[in-house]
Amino acid sequence: MPVKWYDGTVIRIEDQTPTTKRFWVEIPEVDTFDFKAGQFVTMDLPVHEKRLHRWRSYSIANAPEGGNVLEFCIVLLEGGLATRYFFEEVKVGTHLRFKGPDGTFTLPENLDREMILVCTGTGIAPFRSMLLDLRNRKLPFNSIHLIFGTRYRDGILYREEFEAFKKEWPNFKYDIALSRDSDWAGYKGYVHQIYQEKYAEPDPNRHFFLCGWSNMIDDAVANLIVRMGYDKSQIHYELYG
Ligand SMILES: Cc1cc2nc3c(=O)[nH]c(=O)nc-3n(C[C@H](O)[C@H](O)[C@H](O)COP(=O)(O)OP(=O)(O)OC[C@H]3O[C@@H](n4cnc5c(N)ncnc54)[C@H](O)[C@@H]3O)c2cc1C
Repeated sequence: MPVKWYDGTVIRIEDQTPTTKRFWVEIPEVDTFDFKAGQFVTMDLPVHEKRLHRWRSYSIANAPEGGNVLEFCIVLLEGGLATRYFFEEVKVGTHLRFKGPDGTFTLPENLDREMILVCTGTGIAPFRSMLLDLRNRKLPFNSIHLIFGTRYRDGILYREEFEAFKKEWPNFKYDIALSRDSDWAGYKGYVHQIYQEKYAEPDPNRHFFLCGWSNMIDDAVANLIVRMGYDKSQIHYELYG
């Protein structure tokens, strides 16, 4: 089957943190864009002559609710071609060509597992989609612990939503680690210390979902498998680059 490309239109843009923006993209040619929470799309952005240098993937940050609008949460990377385009050139009305959805980084069928979701920065996007999806579909789950890391408190993404989930779900935990904010009352440092401290004893019913850039994911995989003794079948990840 030939790959289907969609023509989306940016309908709303919001500053989220000093270096992160939310983009809402409507796909007028469909009533419903079907995807699974946690999946991503790949955009063909006008940032290079060569096709393969133009493609960038972005996780869908909203839940599959039957509409034709997708939300993306994108961080500005210094010197990054695509993110410079998003931050300087994309406006309401800009057309974005994309294909998808793709990816297998989705919630497991079996929600009886203990799930630990670990992310840094915009790596939160697929987890937000999954959590909103669980809430919308009122799916019961065993337990979820969301561990989010960034540098300073002004970089915390979707905090109010996750704080609200904490009130709604007694089996949902939410921790934030800030690596450069010296007067933060919560965890100071990286996400790793949190799961290392809380899940030191391996348990076969426990699954870790990791999302972000290679520095975080490489360290987390090494910690969990080599140092802590988890089996690789218990670790699932989405690598941003
Ligand atoms: C499946 C998937 C989903 C993704 N979802 C998102 C998303 O929801 N939001 C989002 O912001 N990005 C996401 N990304 C990353 C995105 O595709 C681009 O790589 C990112 O926007 C940078 O593109 P660029 O052209 O600006 O930088 P480039 O010029 O392509 O990047 C230059 C280099 O910097 C590295 N790099 C890029 N970003 C960072 C970073 N923050 N920290 C450290 N190194 C970095 C890259 O690996 C590359 O080596 C996703 C990537 C994948 C594979």
